[in-house]
Amino acid sequence: SEAGNILSGTEVANEIRSALKSEVRKLCEELPGFKPGLAIIQVGGREDSNVYIRMKMKAASQIGIEATHIKLPRTITEAELLIKLKNLNGDPSIHGIIVQMPLDTDNPVDSHLITDAVAPEKDVDGLNTINEGRLAVGDLSGFLPCTPNGVFELIKRSGVQISGSQAVVLGRSKIVGTPCSELLKWHHATVTVCHSKTKYLAKETAKADILVVAIGQPEMVKGDWIKAGAVVIDCGINSVPDETKKSGQKLVGDVAFEEAKKVASYITPVPGGVGPMTVAMLMKNTVQSAQRSAARLRST
Ligand code: NDP
Repeated sequence: SEAGNILSGTEVANEIRSALKSEVRKLCEELPGFKPGLAIIQVGGREDSNVYIRMKMKAASQIGIEATHIKLPRTITEAELLIKLKNLNGDPSIHGIIVQMPLDTDNPVDSHLITDAVAPEKDVDGLNTINEGRLAVGDLSGFLPCTPNGVFELIKRSGVQISGSQAVVLGRSKIVGTPCSELLKWHHATVTVCHSKTKYLAKETAKADILVVAIGQPEMVKGDWIKAGAVVIDCGINSVPDETKKSGQKLVGDVAFEEAKKVASYITPVPGGVGPMTVAMLMKNTVQSAQRSAARLRST
């Protein structure tokens, strides 16, 4: 197909959000008094976290999910946080629990321990060890992590045949690179995972029918690294200086968009690509969790 088709995450996310809104309406009609519930825990007050939480609260309220922002002080201890999570795990009005990372705390708190203290059936971020392990072995019935799930949805929208394709993922983090590569692998792509020790990155990327980039390096992937007709998904969110902007800054991805667009068949922009999909997928997981809980209620 022709080069330079834009995969708009903003558009796809809006479609998903309005579909979720109807599903929630239906669910609430079928079970009067029932409402999907999401708990968002924040420790401390990092400004970037405030922004993300505001976006999540807004999306939830638009869809009909009852989201509660639980703000905890920086002085909270690990033990107190664990008790908080235990209570939310046992609260039948809460279907999804997320702990906004990074934790902004005065005390030593093991963030992995906290993530793993969320009950797997309420782990709508899909980041606890049980859900990670399921994905690692190809069991897709757990909650999928939100950014990779959004990446995957955009790949599907491009129409590219995933099974049998060559996929290359740049980055191997817990929240993006690793789960993206696993999702592609279990949908039968042949996956190459690259990272900071990979020797000839451009040689690896040139093989990709599907290229997912999540490295946090502004515009590092150049047009001539990309195979003609590839589908390119850029997860990067990097703030770089821009004198033409009032703020003095602009956001760019990990891919040099203007060059890459001339080569790729489909490409995601930054902003407006993967970013909005992440929030939409969090909402999708929360609605799915509520539906599962409603089904259990109906069967008892
Ligand atoms: P991390 O910093 O956790 O991981 C970066 C990965 O990229 C690592 O595996 C690292 O390798 C690899 N890497 C770093 N530099 C290079 C390089 N020069 N060449 C090759 N590989 C490299 O980042 P995240 O995965 O959390 O995030 C990646 C990007 O995605 C960031 O820009 C982030 O802002 C964005 N992001 C966007 C989200 C969204 O909602 N759209 C959500 C989360 C992140 P190694 O393992 O060897 O260190």
